[in-house]
Amino acid sequence: MQLRLDVTDRVDHLPGQHYVLRLTAPDGYVAQRSYSVASAPGDPLLELFVERLDDGEVSTYLADVAEPGDQLEVRGPIGGWFAWDGETPALLVGGGTGVVPLVAMVRHAVATDRLDLLRVAVSARTLAELPYADELVAAGAIVVLTREQHGIRPAARLTAMDLFPLWEPGQTAFVCGSTGFAESASQLLVGLGFAPGAVRVERFGPSGT
Ligand SMILES: Cc1cc2nc3c(=O)[nH]c(=O)nc-3n(C[C@H](O)[C@H](O)[C@H](O)COP(=O)(O)OP(=O)(O)OC[C@H]3O[C@@H](n4cnc5c(N)ncnc54)[C@H](O)[C@@H]3O)c2cc1C
Repeated sequence: MQLRLDVTDRVDHLPGQHYVLRLTAPDGYVAQRSYSVASAPGDPLLELFVERLDDGEVSTYLADVAEPGDQLEVRGPIGGWFAWDGETPALLVGGGTGVVPLVAMVRHAVATDRLDLLRVAVSARTLAELPYADELVAAGAIVVLTREQHGIRPAARLTAMDLFPLWEPGQTAFVCGSTGFAESASQLLVGLGFAPGAVRVERFGPSGT
């Protein structure tokens, strides 16, 4: 689910950064979670993409209860490490909702006419479960689906063979997804020759914050 927020007086984010969204119940109970920004820095609105988890406290509220026009409390932008500078080559690897900060990078590259700097590989169980699938494909992303065939590619996990053609000297890699996806994708990149310091990882774990 996409949320487009009008955040007055906000500071422009860098592509890759996230916000913390905080909900406060009438009895004072507070729940807060992190959400990556999907919009490009130049977008007048702040776009978040939230996956609804059936037993999720905050994501079900946002999906089922919040309505257009509601006020939400947000804090950000946060994160300096997982942010693309917009000027240097980068390899983006995302799994599931982990593609969200990568979409901000792609959108920024399109807006500044620097899509040539980015190589993108994304993975999900099915195409329907891949957020921003059309936009990512249009930007040249390689799509790896684990539960269904995609083109001539049978259902399978991301492999080094998928990433190898995207490798170029001088790239920084940005890896984002579940803890398991982030670990295995990072290992693939290091196996391809990336220095561990050139692989920046964002994990969408259950810990919240
Ligand atoms: C830096 C950062 C950026 C993030 N960006 C996004 C984003 O762009 N979009 C987005 O949808 N989420 C994102 N997340 C995850 C988000 O912060 C929440 O963890 C998620 O929305 C679940 O919150 P909840 O309150 O609905 O679930 P909770 O009530 O916290 O948890 C409900 C159940 O789901 C499990 N769970 C919690 N989080 C996850 C998860 N991420 N994946 C699988 N199972 C989980 C829990 O273990 C529990 O069993 C990000 C997390 C981080 C740390």
